[in-house]
Amino acid sequence: MTVENRLIDRHGRRHSYLRLSITDRCNLRCTYCMPPQGIDWTPRTEILTADEIVRLGSIFVGMGITKIRLTGGEPLSRRDIGQIAERLGALPGLKTLAMTTNGISLAKRAGTLRAMGLNGLTISLDTLRRERFIEIAKRDQFNAVMDGIEASLAAGFAPLKINVVVMRGVNDDEILDFVSWAKNRPINVRFIEYMPFPDNKWSTGGLMPYAEIRALIERHYEMIPLMGDATAVGKDFRLAGYAGSVSFVTSMTESFCGACNRLRVTADGNIKSCLFHPAEQSLRDCMRSGGSDTDVEKLILGAVDAKQAAHPPMEELLTMKNRTMIEIGG
Ligand code: SAM
Ligand code: SF4
Repeated sequence: MTVENRLIDRHGRRHSYLRLSITDRCNLRCTYCMPPQGIDWTPRTEILTADEIVRLGSIFVGMGITKIRLTGGEPLSRRDIGQIAERLGALPGLKTLAMTTNGISLAKRAGTLRAMGLNGLTISLDTLRRERFIEIAKRDQFNAVMDGIEASLAAGFAPLKINVVVMRGVNDDEILDFVSWAKNRPINVRFIEYMPFPDNKWSTGGLMPYAEIRALIERHYEMIPLMGDATAVGKDFRLAGYAGSVSFVTSMTESFCGACNRLRVTADGNIKSCLFHPAEQSLRDCMRSGGSDTDVEKLILGAVDAKQAAHPPMEELLTMKNRTMIEIGG
């Protein structure tokens, strides 16, 4: 089934990828994501229900979205994640249903999620050392995440994406360890530039720019560029003789706004056209006040139309009013 894409903004960008946050709860406390004082959890009644999530999914797919990524908070912390995945996975026209997760509860669930229609999986892991994991995530869950990774590979998620937020002085000494970890596994290690959000300890000194990470790897390996989809945010490389691959997500030093094809919906049902633009409109309130699908579509089209050409430079992001990463949904 081919749907005419109606999600084209005034800069000519065609949006086909929705990042849908389904919770702001999480069982980790990663310093770069969650402020040390925590966040005020959104009351459960204000979070989208499974029916609302599926209705929104269906509306977005009807407007041209072909890929949905479930995120959060920790998406697997929702008890109804199975039925959400199954119902979204069955939407005609949706080609990819993916999830970004901290992986803690994947050891038992990876196979079931795959059978229910999830066909893309990203697991976040910033260190290969248990002690350091506890320092970064403030919880002793390293072994659970590693078990989750093995279970996901066994369930056939390939390539399995691994997100690594690189922070200078925290985990930059593990970049080469992560690369060699991909030697015999079908994993795509994605080095992500550290981004500033309220109270997340970000500083320009803590950011390790993509060029520096890449130069470090190139001193040891020959990286062969992979030609990917023009809208992909990662710069992708393979390494000779390696089962896995390496990518860089360069939001800070080489932003990819010109090719952006993403829209976001927060766990409380607000559409956000850019991670770094504070404007939000409530699709949830529209649905709960009896709005029709056409009414919801009008709000979506309004947000797409108002999308900025590019996000501000990183120095400005620091002083800008925005929600935290965990509240927006990464
Ligand atoms: N809890 C899930 C997880 O950790 O994968 C999904 C939500 S998390 C907000 C989504 C992604 O955002 C993770 O890969 C995380 O590493 C990334 N992230 C969070 N804060 C970030 C920051 N300040 N800079 C760069 N990436 C960040
Ligand atoms: Fe939780 Fe993911 Fe944020 Fe870590 S990055 S605190 S696992 S939402």
